[in-house]
Amino acid sequence: MIELRSLSKVYPGPDGGTPALDNVTLTLPAGEFIAIVGKSGSGKSTLINLIAGIDRPTRGEVHVGGQAVHRLDESQLATWRGRHLGVVFQFFQLLPTLTVLENVTLPMDFCGTFAGAEARQRGLQLLEQVGIAEQAHKLPSALSGGQQQRAAIARAMANDPLLIVADEPTGNLDTHTADAVLSLLASLARHGKSVLMVTHERDISAVADRVVTLADGRVVGNEARRPATPAVRELRHA
Ligand code: ADP
Repeated sequence: MIELRSLSKVYPGPDGGTPALDNVTLTLPAGEFIAIVGKSGSGKSTLINLIAGIDRPTRGEVHVGGQAVHRLDESQLATWRGRHLGVVFQFFQLLPTLTVLENVTLPMDFCGTFAGAEARQRGLQLLEQVGIAEQAHKLPSALSGGQQQRAAIARAMANDPLLIVADEPTGNLDTHTADAVLSLLASLARHGKSVLMVTHERDISAVADRVVTLADGRVVGNEARRPATPAVRELRHA
């Protein structure tokens, strides 16, 4: 699903710049909920930005679902991202003057995937799936943080992407709300989506299928998790 080959990123600057990723080679399977963890500055955001084609590698290759992302030009990248990738941010980034439903249907308009009544219907179904259908016609500012993040997840699902990437999606939420958002992302993976998340959460092992650990721009851990306790199983199947 995601294949990184000898991937390096150096941000330009004095003294040869800042090395952020150092020769990372990694294969990640499809259909998993994958958490990327590591200390601040270890390269997590850089890694996710390279996978999402938001930034470009200094060296190496990024393949996502068979697409050589590092080879796409800016306009091809915009088309590919819009069609195959859903992105969820820490601060939601919903458009404040559009209703929640309009925020969710916007990527459909942008990519021409669904239009008119069909787009509206699909948007409502997605809002139903993330549990906030009754908020559809409100502006984002009328929603709680957790509800806004659910709306952002529905928006990320708009074009039925291969992969959802989320950079600290729970970083701005209280613990209880964060747990609910993590469960929602986990449930998307159980329904066949690949979900890749950068997180500081200590307890991601409860929901993640795989934990990739970075340190100083290198992968120092890549561990498939098998949750064992009944409480954990319950959370996974909630
Ligand atoms: P993390 O997400 O784990 O906190 P980052 O990928 O943001 O790590 O950063 C990795 C390294 O790259 C850090 O040393 C950081 O200071 C540096 N870095 C990140 N973004 C930039 C940038 N746009 N310009 C220069 N250096 C950057």
